Amino acid sequence: MVDSYGRKITYLRLSVTELCNLRCRYCMPEDGICKKRHEEMLTQEEMVAAVKAAASLGVTKLRITGGEPLVKPNIVSLCRDMAEIDGIREICLTTNGTLLPELAGPLRKAGVKRLNISLDTLNAEKYHMITRNGTLSEVLRGIEAALKEGFEKIKINTVLIGGFNDDEIAELADLTRREAIDVRFIELMPMYDSGDFGQEAFIPYTVVTEKLSGLEPVPADGGVAKLFRFSDAKGNIGLISPVSAHFCAECNRIRITADGKIKPCLHSEDEISIKGMNGQQMRETIRTAILEKPEWHGELSYRQRSRAKRNMNQIGG
Ligand code: SAM
Ligand code: SF4
Repeated sequence: MVDSYGRKITYLRLSVTELCNLRCRYCMPEDGICKKRHEEMLTQEEMVAAVKAAASLGVTKLRITGGEPLVKPNIVSLCRDMAEIDGIREICLTTNGTLLPELAGPLRKAGVKRLNISLDTLNAEKYHMITRNGTLSEVLRGIEAALKEGFEKIKINTVLIGGFNDDEIAELADLTRREAIDVRFIELMPMYDSGDFGQEAFIPYTVVTEKLSGLEPVPADGGVAKLFRFSDAKGNIGLISPVSAHFCAECNRIRITADGKIKPCLHSEDEISIKGMNGQQMRETIRTAILEKPEWHGELSYRQRSRAKRNMNQIGG
């Protein structure tokens, strides 16, 4: 389906839980979140119905996200259900990677084709600090497990944070030489009430190209990242710039949160509920949401926070 600004909407990001086993400083408040009542959240059946409704409107790509999707007890069966939906050609999943040692194999078998694994630093102390409780070796084991399972693509997502990991850009980028993985640097987004980052933390994506020599441009793959590659690498470097150079004109996505709100735009406060609806009602509501998708997400900066009244764990990134 095409929205009011001529953008073809083919990509749905479905958040399957708000809960997480980490507490990344830019994503979640330190105390975690106030757990919502079970009745407020979409059931597995409602999630399947919502994705079917979106697929009937032209969505072909589904990303499962969270919170941390792998803490959801039925995540494998949920992915299997999604893989059976007519029209969904690609199921991707975004994870912090810590539970992949046990789940990479079952997820691959359930039909997940692509994985994005979040990793902001290769230093164990810094990892523990930014995630407030995480253990680096668990993610590294998760990446290893994923590499063995033959996913069509594995990408590492690194949030760029000035004064925290800008000194590790070369080391992180080097992962693309060692393994068949892409590394994507994503600008830090100023969300609702997560993170007490100062202005210096919000660095533009251009810092990456300034710090790396020998990068060659690669044609875009239909995603929002600007792509580069080292000539001797097995994977690409992607740069994602929601703050310094927004890509709203190419935005092809909508989001559905775990509590059943369609978000036509990540940074807008507009939400439309589908909780409790049947498939036909969901289809009509998703249609309306696509038509109401705003032209752009508005100014975002250190001073101008996202208008979304949620933190990222309640949206899904
Ligand atoms: N728990 C999973 C994970 O960490 O990959 C999936 C959910 S997480 C909300 C999805 C993505 O959003 C992650 O790659 C995370 O780094 C990113 N993210 C969260 N908060 C962000 C922020 N304030 N700015 C930029 N990216 C953010
Ligand atoms: Fe959890 Fe992912 Fe948010 Fe980190 S970024 S707190 S792993 S949901």
